[in-house]
Amino acid sequence: MSDSKNQAKYPKLPDLGTRTDEIEIFAGPCSVESEEQFFEVAETLAGLGLRWVRGGAFKPRTNPHSFQGLGEEALQIMQAGGEKYGLKTLTEVMDSEHISLVQRYCDGIQVGARNFQNFSLLKNIGIATAKTNTMVLFKRGFAGTIAEWLAATEYITQHGNDNVVLCERGIRTYETATRFTLDISAVPVIHKQSLFPICIDVSHPAGQRDLVPSLAKAAVAAGADSLMIEVHPDPQTALSDGPQQLTPAQFADLVGELRELAAVLGKKIV
Ligand code: PEP
Ligand code: MN
Repeated sequence: MSDSKNQAKYPKLPDLGTRTDEIEIFAGPCSVESEEQFFEVAETLAGLGLRWVRGGAFKPRTNPHSFQGLGEEALQIMQAGGEKYGLKTLTEVMDSEHISLVQRYCDGIQVGARNFQNFSLLKNIGIATAKTNTMVLFKRGFAGTIAEWLAATEYITQHGNDNVVLCERGIRTYETATRFTLDISAVPVIHKQSLFPICIDVSHPAGQRDLVPSLAKAAVAAGADSLMIEVHPDPQTALSDGPQQLTPAQFADLVGELRELAAVLGKKIV
């Protein structure tokens, strides 16, 4: 698709649907577990001058016996934390029936990898956000091609909300040393084939916290528009994704390094 044709189809909008030289970080716990837990992370992010906090309320767990999230209670905690620390909040919607509930409490909607081709969910999110222009962070499925991803994105945008951030979070390959294989080439390919900003979720492909800094630096170097990084006050006790979550101190160190790297590229971590 030519740039001019694409431009007409996806007009640039204020807020996150626009690519800028500012790199946003969506950090926060995998799951919201308590007010204390969430507020501690939110305080760290606000102290670093970041603008968003993420957290899971409805968790797409592989095993139904695993922690499923606190649901509406988590949304209430997120709203209170967002207000207290001046942060926008981002959470995943797994079911169409939760879209309006999440819209009541949070600023951004995440579509997870497992719902990448849940076309009725994507369509319903597109309809529900058409007037509000709510940011939708749309993750790539771990067995989805970029062409399928961009096609699926249109289920959201066709109703008028172009404020979509595409999020690469690792794909399945034969490699087992990492949880998923981070497809860093998704950054230039998405930049070439669309006008959407691209986020790199560095936590889910890593699966282990010591790999997170390298992937985050690679994402910034590759030109990612935003990053997603999971942070937990005490990862050892996390109810989901403990091994890949950074402590607030580790996260603060990483943000410092990323800010130096971004400056070299003429960009700014916000
Ligand atoms: C998450 O962000 O916590 C999550 C479940 O991500 P994904 O859909 O990429 O697995
Ligand atoms: Mn997670």
